Amino acid sequence: MVTVVDTVEGAKKPRHPEKAHRPDQPVQMRKPEWIRVKAPTSRGYSETREIVKSHNLVTVCEEAGCPNIGECWDKKHATFMIMGEICTRACAFCNVATGKPAPLDVREPENVAHAVKTMGLTHVVITSVDRDDLEDGGAQHFVEVIQAIREQAPGTTVEILTPDFLRKEKALEKVVAARPDVFNHNLETVPSNYLTVRPGARYFHSMRLLQQVKEIDPTIFTKSGIMVGLGEERNEVLQLMDDLRSADVDFLTVGQYLQPTKKHHPVIRFVPPDEFKSLETIAYSKGFLMVSASPLTRSSHHAGDDFARLKAAREAKLRAA
Ligand code: SF4
Repeated sequence: MVTVVDTVEGAKKPRHPEKAHRPDQPVQMRKPEWIRVKAPTSRGYSETREIVKSHNLVTVCEEAGCPNIGECWDKKHATFMIMGEICTRACAFCNVATGKPAPLDVREPENVAHAVKTMGLTHVVITSVDRDDLEDGGAQHFVEVIQAIREQAPGTTVEILTPDFLRKEKALEKVVAARPDVFNHNLETVPSNYLTVRPGARYFHSMRLLQQVKEIDPTIFTKSGIMVGLGEERNEVLQLMDDLRSADVDFLTVGQYLQPTKKHHPVIRFVPPDEFKSLETIAYSKGFLMVSASPLTRSSHHAGDDFARLKAAREAKLRAA
């Protein structure tokens, strides 16, 4: 059976007190057929759910209401979200609750690592909420999670999807020194949208963060992603690609924005698949090693397979040089 995962259902959960008084936004209830995905019902999905719950972990797959959860969890691919379920930012696109976060769980690094080992993951993606309340923005906690995975699951490659560590001096250096295999930081949207979509962040800072990773350790793959359908112009997306290439970013992901609740930013447009294909072609021509652009692309979707391709693409480029 094929059903639509209704991301607007999340409005029933009282999890966005900071957004409760915002005016309702128009909701495009009728999603185009290319957004329809299978409902999560398989055995693999249930098993992944059990492992996540029994280790007391949080996943961005659930928190963000990701439409790919049925497919990913069936294959035991989950993206762990560390440092709690409460974020200190209130981005207009994001379904994660905002507020005052709880103290860090000191057992979390071991729990994440044990779950990675139990699931037999060859590649894992670790992300987090923004923790502006912590002196280092949670950099040390990222380091401890990476180290715990290296100890318990030495064969697993580690991809991190980090916050921007805005105004957190030396935080980035600390995380890069832990040598994740892939460093991902999403720009999310074009700069003209930042004030309305990502008000707590700064476009240039995020770009510079990615560039600095490469400056500190050129062996680490860098990755960034955006959502489209938020009112951006095509030329702005092409400019953003150029900016990312100037920062030496290897991998670009582009996916359709979906509105989690009526209190979130509206979908301005559903971008058809052929436009994604065109963006992918242009991005490759600009020199990215890897590009994933489709309506259901998310930064962590197929991350393991993509990492293998990313490595192969770098090797091919080196051979050709
Ligand atoms: S695409 Fe990423 S966030 Fe979505 S279900 Fe898959 S692993 Fe989770």
